[in-house]
Amino acid sequence: MKVIVIGAGVIGASIAFRMAETGAEVTLVEALRVGSGTSSTSYAWVNACEKLTSRSYFDLNYAGVKAHRRIAGEIEGANWFHRPGVVQWKDSGAEASGFDKGDFDKLERLKSWGYPAESIDAATLSELEPEVDSSTFSEEGAIYYPEDGWLDAPVYAGAIVARAQRHHGMRLVTGKKVERLLTRSGRAVGVLLADGTEILADQVVNSAGRWANDAVGDAEYGLPLAPTVGLIAYTTSCDSSLRHALRTPLVNCRPDGAGRILLRSNDIDKTVPIDAEAVPSHPSAQELLSRMIKLMPSLEGLHVEAVRTAIRPIPRDGLSAIGRHPALENYYVTVTHSGVTLGAFLGEAVRDEVIHGRSVPELAEFRPARFF
Ligand SMILES: Cc1cc2nc3c(=O)[nH]c(=O)nc-3n(C[C@H](O)[C@H](O)[C@H](O)COP(=O)(O)OP(=O)(O)OC[C@H]3O[C@@H](n4cnc5c(N)ncnc54)[C@H](O)[C@@H]3O)c2cc1C
Repeated sequence: MKVIVIGAGVIGASIAFRMAETGAEVTLVEALRVGSGTSSTSYAWVNACEKLTSRSYFDLNYAGVKAHRRIAGEIEGANWFHRPGVVQWKDSGAEASGFDKGDFDKLERLKSWGYPAESIDAATLSELEPEVDSSTFSEEGAIYYPEDGWLDAPVYAGAIVARAQRHHGMRLVTGKKVERLLTRSGRAVGVLLADGTEILADQVVNSAGRWANDAVGDAEYGLPLAPTVGLIAYTTSCDSSLRHALRTPLVNCRPDGAGRILLRSNDIDKTVPIDAEAVPSHPSAQELLSRMIKLMPSLEGLHVEAVRTAIRPIPRDGLSAIGRHPALENYYVTVTHSGVTLGAFLGEAVRDEVIHGRSVPELAEFRPARFF
């Protein structure tokens, strides 16, 4: 079977890799570089504990967590999945940590659903993160996820794409944009690149994330999206002992390599315009830094070194849209927030559905058809 996968983010790379392993003739087409889209500007927490809107959404994301553990164990030298644990706490009325008042039973629910999570007190927090100012910590509702962590998504995507090329003959086309789908009698038969090249295939998978609708060339093959803006600030390198990812009412932060700290916050994101200039002097970046220094006063004197903004690929109802598009045969689409969490699982699931014709139960409630 010949398959084209559009977009080499964390999702497209995973799908192309798993399909190429089956012996399918896979061409992965990427407009820029592997992993350079939204996957490069992400908090990248691989988790299901924030996905409690329904049991099925939790199960889908937990399948994502498990698939990342599997693939990191499967590939020798895997260096992209950091799992020192994540701590989440709240203060009165704050939603910045993603932990609102309705979540008082969150811990019990997570435990009953088999998710590793435990309650911790201030003394344990200061053992885990000695530089955190304990006055910012609220014992009520603090949860430690000992097995959680984050993914260096571009590193992951690059490693599996290289493996697919080297071991499974996958063809990678970078620096070429898909202009539109090629169709015949209600079926997708390939793609047209912006330089006029046509690539033909039996199946087309659109994993172009927030740009998914730009790659199809006809609104009929699009999906209704409700994207949101995210801003991430990166500090200068420092000697901080920060080891875990922290989701706090002030700021969400985590180490980002070479002593840099990645900073973001849900409430600040809501104030960032879509065309915000991504510069260190941006007021939102400076606000993130001052909140970080409040959280860890030992960081006084640190600077913002870089800022990046990204647009989250989110279907209109906020949930994942993974499956065949009802307007066109042989055309499959994957647009979802939490794509970092879901990437490795979607690699396996989309392979099973497109190559083996097996329907994957975890995806049943998240089909694009619900919009049509
Ligand atoms: C601030 C922020 C925080 C986040 N935090 C988390 C988190 O903690 N956990 C989590 O799981 N998720 C998180 N996400 C979401 C997650 O990052 C995304 O869901 C995920 O990266 C999407 O991956 P993707 O492969 O679908 O898209 P992308 O990574 O954007 O990949 C799509 C690729 O398609 C390419 N492309 C686009 N158009 C074309 C075309 N016409 N032809 C060819 N190629 C094309 C692009 O260049 C790009 O490389 C966060 C996102 C943001 C912005």
